[in-house]
Amino acid sequence: DNQIYYDDDAAYENIEEKTVAVLGYGSQGHAHALNLADSAIDVVVGLREESSSRDAAQEDGLRVATPTEAAKEADIVSMLVPDTVQPDVFAAIEPHLEAGNTLQFAHGFNVHYGQIEPPEGVDVTMIAPKSPGHLVRRNFEAGEGTPGLLAIYRDESGEAKDEALAYAQAIGCTRAGVVETTFREETETDLFGEQAVLCGGVTELIKAGYETLVDAGYSPEMAYFECMNEMKLIVDLLYEGGLGEMWDSVSDTAEYGGLTRGEVVVDDHAREQMETVLEQVQNGEFAREWINENQAGRPAYKQRRGAEQAHDIEAVGEELRGLFAWGEAAGEESEDEAAA
Ligand code: NDP
Ligand code: MG
Ligand code: MG
Repeated sequence: DNQIYYDDDAAYENIEEKTVAVLGYGSQGHAHALNLADSAIDVVVGLREESSSRDAAQEDGLRVATPTEAAKEADIVSMLVPDTVQPDVFAAIEPHLEAGNTLQFAHGFNVHYGQIEPPEGVDVTMIAPKSPGHLVRRNFEAGEGTPGLLAIYRDESGEAKDEALAYAQAIGCTRAGVVETTFREETETDLFGEQAVLCGGVTELIKAGYETLVDAGYSPEMAYFECMNEMKLIVDLLYEGGLGEMWDSVSDTAEYGGLTRGEVVVDDHAREQMETVLEQVQNGEFAREWINENQAGRPAYKQRRGAEQAHDIEAVGEELRGLFAWGEAAGEESEDEAAA
């Protein structure tokens, strides 16, 4: 089993004298930078001159420089710009990475697929909170932690892991627990999960269910409720208490029907296709496709995004979500509407 580290395994002295350059001030960047600063670590945020994030970082009381200037003075460079722009940002800062420095990531894509090849003498590590940045920040401010992953790709100093653990502590992750993994395992499981199960799998399952009902003559509203809206209720139960809590909470009829019919839909063919998707992640085929897609200006991405937005279920859902009050989200929406 993978090792898990907590606060007791981390030592502040392994980071307290160091300057951290946080490149990017988006979801992860703002959370890491503010948590590090609150942990009394010297932080400089690296943003391009024309960056729309500059004002936010400065208003939050942080020092801001260009990525190159920030990397020059830093001991640890935390690469928190979008994955697709990291190779370009890396090319600009590479001359300023000295032996003994650390290049740190929150996702392994570029290192694992050879898009970034850090210079010799530099440690390469990963601290990846398993949560969006705003929660990393909110949990930290509430005195709580956010679970995370730790991986060491290269340890030239012999101190990479101690330093990474101290970083994880400074952003609050060791309060909750940090699981040790590798760049390969983190990257491949992350891509597979979002493609086959979370983002890709769930949306296709929802659309296929919706279309099956509508094509059979049922109303789009009923199809939306059954196939999309109720998804959240089921996922909340799974998140809280696993498969068992979900099965215990639904009716016996739903349990029997689900246990016998689920595997009819997600059958051997679907499982074989999952293996194909995993192979394309493992052999780099997906990575090459996505890198080429970006270099070509994202034609397929734009086309598919447009088609998704044009799906009937989006119009039906928007109308229904406007008609019903569903807890917090609905409350926020009506406030926004009042303001607008
Ligand atoms: P964001 O998309 O939120 O990053 C946006 C920031 O990057 C902005 O400050 C933006 O500033 C800056 N930026 C964009 N392009 C450039 C550029 N060319 N040069 C310099 N700065 C640029 O990124 P995320 O926080 O989502 O992701 C960062 C890393 O964290 C990724 O590796 C991601 O995989 C990983 N991660 C993300 C998670 C998440 O929940 N979002 C969870 C765990 C890991 P500007 O105004 O200049 O565009
Ligand atoms: Mg991902
Ligand atoms: Mg039902």
